[in-house]
Amino acid sequence: MQKKVGLYWFSHDLRLNDNDLLANAAQQVDALVCVYCMPELTPYLANFSQQSHLGEQRVRFIQSSINDLSKQLAKFDQKLILCDQEPFAALQSLIQSLHVTHLYCDRFSGTNEARCVEALQQQFPQLCVVQANVSTLFSESQLPFALDDLPPTFTRFRKQVEALPIHHHANLTALPPMAESDLDYFQHTSLEEDEALFVGGSTAGHQHCAWYFSTHLASEYKLTRNGLDGKEYSTKFSPWLALGCVSPREVMTYLRDYEAKHGANESSYWIYFELLWREYFHWYAQRHAERLFLHQGIKAHSPIGHFDSARFHSWVKGETGLPIVDACMRQLKLTGYLSNRGRQLVASCLIHELDLDWRYGAAYFETKLIDYDVGSNWGNWQYLAGVGADPNPSRKFNLEKQTQMYDPNGEFVAKWLSAATGKESH
Ligand SMILES: Cc1cc2nc3c(=O)[nH]c(=O)nc-3n(C[C@H](O)[C@H](O)[C@H](O)COP(=O)(O)OP(=O)(O)OC[C@H]3O[C@@H](n4cnc5c(N)ncnc54)[C@H](O)[C@@H]3O)c2cc1C
Repeated sequence: MQKKVGLYWFSHDLRLNDNDLLANAAQQVDALVCVYCMPELTPYLANFSQQSHLGEQRVRFIQSSINDLSKQLAKFDQKLILCDQEPFAALQSLIQSLHVTHLYCDRFSGTNEARCVEALQQQFPQLCVVQANVSTLFSESQLPFALDDLPPTFTRFRKQVEALPIHHHANLTALPPMAESDLDYFQHTSLEEDEALFVGGSTAGHQHCAWYFSTHLASEYKLTRNGLDGKEYSTKFSPWLALGCVSPREVMTYLRDYEAKHGANESSYWIYFELLWREYFHWYAQRHAERLFLHQGIKAHSPIGHFDSARFHSWVKGETGLPIVDACMRQLKLTGYLSNRGRQLVASCLIHELDLDWRYGAAYFETKLIDYDVGSNWGNWQYLAGVGADPNPSRKFNLEKQTQMYDPNGEFVAKWLSAATGKESH
């Protein structure tokens, strides 16, 4: 009988536990190869894509996540192959040289990756491609509607899914042996632990979740979640969720344990509520595919914004002259993270004050955010630009009023306007 050789393409699931797809692979194949391909940028915007690159913080977070994954794999006598070439070429060559029979990967929402899987299937018709949603609370079969009938608004979605059971899968117990090869494997190190707020990887992600739920913060989350700066006002789970170092179902286990111990309240519920937003945008991205990246979004007509290099770069550099926007943009550039409120304000500025095509903002976020997630990013931008899942034509924020509400003493603006933005180019 032909030996079954599996290729597991890690992407937004950089963890071994609560990973159904990997557990399936472990049961189905005789030998396994594990690979990660560095992300590519969305090539939709001619003026943007050629000159842009992934931000330093985002790259660092990915690298530390891979490093941790590699350490976890080593415990199961597996090694990771790290590819920085375009995924199709990398995977094609692995499939050929290692006689791969089974490919395991996410059911991607991003169109680049989805096309890559399609092309591989065409090139290797015998290849058994096994795909699953690796980063959601619910599986597609659990949804009480077909994906084509995804509710057009978040509220309608939430009401239909909120009470569904959340299945949490067992920890991995074994992996098949490595497929024989003379390839170069990723060499993990133990150097990356530092004091940074965001250290990538499942180990650091779980440490962060455990820390968060060892405090009282979840019981106040709804009151503090609109803060602009600091570790405590919101959960900061997003970077680990985005790379799948921690699954949303694992977060829910922490949350339910916390509620069992300390009691549930509106704030603890609200963490679930926000995870449902993430969930909604995931299915939204899968439902709307390429339309996620269109100027007109999922609507019939394009909004008025267009591309203007000078205005766009003033926004990117934090030099618009609008203090709250400039402070947020500098924070984003320096840290790779921005609060939800900050994201809303800078997006509103780009769309409504600078009259720019919203997709340039989304594409810039894609390069910088350490929690970049295709559905959450492009879906939120569409929502704010009035071309997405929002019955309102658009959401314009009064920046002065917002500054008074969220930075009444000007501390946030003073801190980030005086912060050096370093040499990194855009
Ligand atoms: C223009 C714009 C772009 C965005 N891009 C991204 C992105 O690329 N990746 C990303 O994870 N989030 C994105 N968000 C959503 C949100 O800003 C971040 O999830 C949140 O700020 C992350 O910080 P946190 O983990 O402390 O969030 P919390 O407030 O603690 O929320 C808990 C979790 O709920 C989810 N969540 C919260 N708010 C949202 C939301 N509006 N949409 C989707 N999920 C949400 C996240 O997974 C988050 O970790 C974007 C929002 C806007 C307005």
